[in-house]
Amino acid sequence: MITHCLNIYKVKRVSSKRPLFFTFELDFRYFFLMIDLHTHTIFSDGQLVPSELVRRAEVKGYKAIALTDHVDASNIDLIVPRLVKVAKELNRTSPVSVIPGAEITHVPSGSIKDLVTEARDLGALIVLVHGETIVEPVEKGTNIAAIEAGADILAHPGQITEEQALAARDKGTLLEITSRKGHSLSNGHVAQMAVKHGAGLILNTDSHGPSDLISAEFAERVLMSSGLDSKGVRAAVDNSEKVLRKVLGL
Ligand SMILES: [Zn+2]
Ligand SMILES: [Zn+2]
Repeated sequence: MITHCLNIYKVKRVSSKRPLFFTFELDFRYFFLMIDLHTHTIFSDGQLVPSELVRRAEVKGYKAIALTDHVDASNIDLIVPRLVKVAKELNRTSPVSVIPGAEITHVPSGSIKDLVTEARDLGALIVLVHGETIVEPVEKGTNIAAIEAGADILAHPGQITEEQALAARDKGTLLEITSRKGHSLSNGHVAQMAVKHGAGLILNTDSHGPSDLISAEFAERVLMSSGLDSKGVRAAVDNSEKVLRKVLGL
């Protein structure tokens, strides 16, 4: 999702008696570059072809974007190879790192494990599962099945339970804080459960169109608004960076 860099942003004059001398005041404030590991294109219900989404992300100042279209057993073998192909092509020239992925969506919980495996076999470098958001009738049992299947990210997990948060910690599945309308209604609960049980958090946009892409500053505000303190915000930011490094083999 996000990375940061140290910036020298203030130059302060030390003394009026020494007008020629200035000192640089370092401020260890973090400026984020967006890493967004959950987006959709026309290969599911997004509005843009991958190339346009990536171009718009570039203009927005993104560092990395994952293309994670909705998949089930009917389309996984059609979509994932397409996303792998376009990511490879775009990565030749784009300053934005493009990561092929998949979001396993509204499938029976008993099918999730096999589909996670299939997505990876087809070349998905990030595998999300569409979690039990409170604004859709996602099958109960999806959250825990996703965690047990080893999904990288459990998207918008809704009213995640204590047991599920503990399992996410143990399996290393990251719980998503989202900027997406509707799904974001339970951000506060998700953050609270993650902090209480030591599970990792990650912020994504779940973008379906150009207006859903957000600035890094807004991403930070969404994380803060979920109730996280500055340490928690920093940890979520670092999780995005860690996933990106792992995916890029760094
Ligand atoms: Zn969608
Ligand atoms: Zn999604």
